[in-house]
Amino acid sequence: MTQLTDNFTAVSERIAQAAIAAGRSPSEITLVAVSKTWPAEVVLAAYAAGMRHFGENRSDEFEEKKTAVSQQLGAENDIIWHYIGALQSRQTHTIADHADVFHALDRLKIARRLSKRLVENGRTLDVFLEVNISGEGSKAGFNMSEWEESTTQQAEIRKVVESVQGLPGLQLQGLMTMAPWDAPPQVIRTVFERTHQLAHWLETAVPGTPLPQLSMGMTDDFEIAIAAGATHVRVGRALFGERH
Ligand SMILES: *Cc1c(COP(=O)(O)O)cnc(C)c1O
Repeated sequence: MTQLTDNFTAVSERIAQAAIAAGRSPSEITLVAVSKTWPAEVVLAAYAAGMRHFGENRSDEFEEKKTAVSQQLGAENDIIWHYIGALQSRQTHTIADHADVFHALDRLKIARRLSKRLVENGRTLDVFLEVNISGEGSKAGFNMSEWEESTTQQAEIRKVVESVQGLPGLQLQGLMTMAPWDAPPQVIRTVFERTHQLAHWLETAVPGTPLPQLSMGMTDDFEIAIAAGATHVRVGRALFGERH
């Protein structure tokens, strides 16, 4: 409990400092506490320490944990659940039924399935499109590794944005990306900046599409992400410690 409070305070201060250094307001940045692999009791302790946004990446684990947490806090609690993992078709119902925000939309097929289920349930879901800017083959997301030069990639992402905009229940918030593994800070920063520029470009390319949110930055690089315009940082280890 004390450790979680200390970690939360330290991460919040680092976020605030990074925001101020970038000439931004700390209130623009949402800290998503990535509680994946940690049990419901840890989420409850983090809640008691003041955290409200939680990130999960396995649909079965997420559903169980949300149920357990809701039993303790009541169904009408003020937690915002973020699903940050890749999604398979068969898991779309769980996410449409239980998540508030989905950060890793990487296929239109998934978008359509989510939308259908959301409409059936009268729910809405905030979504981020995941883009692969570094071009690493291991990364999920729409391949936007050469978006500045590639009219093919530009056309693809425009079409995706237009399609998602047309799907009821989905509320497109912006873009999400992951930094390349083990890259120097300047390389990571470039990836985050190019993601930010892509969001700007899309706002003009697809009129009437505000994309104000940017989900980027994790334990090792959230300050770089904030300097590049992140509005959502997804932080696990700096809050909860190493995962086992
Ligand atoms: C696990 C995970 C995080 C958090 O990573 P840390 O290094 O523990 O901060 C963020 N985003 C995604 C998509 C993740 O899977």
